[in-house]
Amino acid sequence: MAREDDVALSRRRLLAGVSVAAAAGFVGGASSVMAKAPMQNTQAPAFYRFKVGAIEATVVSDGPLPLGEPKSDIFIGLSKEQLGQALTDNFLPTDNVVLQQNALVINTGDRIALFDTGMGASKMLGPDTGRLTANLKAAGIEPKDVDAVVLTHAHPDHCFGLMADDGARNFPNAQIYMAQADFDFWTDEGKLANDAIKAFIAGARKQLLPNRDRMVFVKDGQEILPGVQAMSAPGHTVGHTVYMIASQGKTMCNAGDIAHHHVVVVESPRLEFAYDTDGKQAVSSRLRVFDMLAAQRLPLLAYHFPWPGLGYLAKRGDGFRYFPAPLQMVLDQQA
Ligand SMILES: [Zn+2]
Repeated sequence: MAREDDVALSRRRLLAGVSVAAAAGFVGGASSVMAKAPMQNTQAPAFYRFKVGAIEATVVSDGPLPLGEPKSDIFIGLSKEQLGQALTDNFLPTDNVVLQQNALVINTGDRIALFDTGMGASKMLGPDTGRLTANLKAAGIEPKDVDAVVLTHAHPDHCFGLMADDGARNFPNAQIYMAQADFDFWTDEGKLANDAIKAFIAGARKQLLPNRDRMVFVKDGQEILPGVQAMSAPGHTVGHTVYMIASQGKTMCNAGDIAHHHVVVVESPRLEFAYDTDGKQAVSSRLRVFDMLAAQRLPLLAYHFPWPGLGYLAKRGDGFRYFPAPLQMVLDQQA
């Protein structure tokens, strides 16, 4: 008997609760009119800081790069269905393949170097790019304080942020480091006749040619800054270069575009990418760098992997698996 009374009491309370809620505007579609908590619709500034020995490293985002719906041969030989299935299997959206743009900044205590510059003012590869400068400033780094801009290669999403639309330098005090092979290829006037890469060539000429006098051409194996060693990894472009960054016994790899997708080309590293200049060479460079990183258990920063793109690779069968590094909520002095 006591139990039925309890039930009746609960029901009365429930009904009373509903009428209070309705009066407050939570029920019956009145919520939009009565909203007292407007949505912010903004995201936190996109920078992430970590340490490499005594070096302070900061990843800054230039914003997402949407490749659009899965299509056959974005990764050569992979059908639209196979790509869609790989995305589904990994809980990734199947209506748009989105790559990130994770640019690395290192502060050695003496000098500040930025690796790659994002899209700058160009919206050629999507509407949400061009956020690098704002994110740098949010991270407390002023573009005028950048001493070196180091390019992994001269594709739009890596070098179009060198110059502002009005022709001013975005990093007015920086020397620019890149492979000469990429400079020569992407500024070659003769390639303006090639419709497939014409827009890339025209843009790269606008970015690179005015900076010719402050450019340092890097060689394979060269230590370009204290603790920063260039490692030639061609194929994606003719001069694509990754950079090993070392301090106090810690080492990481700024891997640029050694791989474009954290699942597809990590699990199947022999897949060529539609935007590779020489896909077969890109695969052999990828396997060489991946093998080294996996064997030595070294972290990499991958420009296009999910934010912030910092993680590890391990061998899995014929391919690899990517393990994102846990984000640190407090800066570890000895990461
Ligand atoms: Zn890229």
